[in-house]
Amino acid sequence: MLGEVARLIQKARRGVVLTGAGISAESGVPTFRGKDGLWKQYRAEELATLEAFRADSKLVWEWYNWRRELIRKVHPNPGHYALVEFKSWFEDYTLITQNVDGLHRRAGLDDILELHGNIQLNICVECRLPDKAELDIDPDNIAQCKHCGGKLRPGVVWFGEMLPQAVLQKAFRKAEEADIFFSIGTSALVHPAASLPVLARQRGAKLVEINPDETPLTGLADYYFAARAGELLPRLVEVVSKEHKA
Ligand code: NAD
Ligand code: ZN
Repeated sequence: MLGEVARLIQKARRGVVLTGAGISAESGVPTFRGKDGLWKQYRAEELATLEAFRADSKLVWEWYNWRRELIRKVHPNPGHYALVEFKSWFEDYTLITQNVDGLHRRAGLDDILELHGNIQLNICVECRLPDKAELDIDPDNIAQCKHCGGKLRPGVVWFGEMLPQAVLQKAFRKAEEADIFFSIGTSALVHPAASLPVLARQRGAKLVEINPDETPLTGLADYYFAARAGELLPRLVEVVSKEHKA
C-alpha cells in the first residue's frame, strides 16, 4: 500500500497535510482526551475558555505555564521531520495544523496554517492584538496590553471561539485544490477542521489517513494506515525516495 501512495505522490502537484494532537503524541505532548491530559483534576474544557479566564485568570495562566513548560522540554519526532521532506515532493505544499505546540515549526517548516494559534504567543484578551514584549506571564501579576490595558492571554483559540478566518479560508482553498490530502493524528471530530479532508475528497483529491484508531473519516479514505505517525511517515519518505531513483 505504501508503494501505491508513493506513486500517487509522484503524480500529484498539490499536496495538503492536516495534523492533530496525534502527530505530537510521540514527542510526549499529552492529547486533551485521555487521562494524561488532565492537570490538577481539571479538564481542558474547563480551563481553555474565555469564561474561565474572566472568572480566574490566575488559574488559567498557571495551567498554560505548565503546558508551555511541557512543550519547551519536548522535541519534534520523526513524524514532524518526515513532513518537512514532503515539501520537496509537491509544486505546492500546504501543512495545516490544529496543534498549538509549534513543533512543525521547530522541525523546520515555516509556512504553516495554524488553525488554533500558537501557545507560545500572547494576545490581549480585549483587543486581541499580539504582544511580543512579554512572553513569560506571572499568574499573580498578569502583564497588560500596551494599547488598551487588557490582560494578556495565550494566543490560542479557546473552546467556543472562532478560528482565525483568513487562515481558515486559505486552508479551505488549498483543500479544494489538493491532488492528495493526508489526515494525520486527528480524531476528525472537531469542525471546521474535520471538513477539510471531506471537501478535498469531494473535489477529487486522493485521501490518505494515518491514525492508530479509526475515525469518522476512515470509511472515506482511499488509503488508511492504522499506524503511529512517527513510524509510518519515515517509511513513506523512504519508499518515495527509492521510487524517485528507480
Ligand atoms: P485530536 O482530536 O486531534 O485527536 C488525537 C488523535 O490522534 C486521535 O484520533 C488518536 O487516535 C490519534 N493518535 C494518537 N497517537 C497517535 C500517533 N502516534 N500517530 C498518529 N495518530 C495518533 O486531538 P485532541 O487531543 O482530542 O485535541 C483536540 C484539540 O486540542 C486539538 O485539535 C488542538 O487544538 C488541541 N490540542 C493541541 C495539542 C498540541 O498542540 N500538541 C495537544 C492537545 C490538544
Ligand atoms: Zn488590548
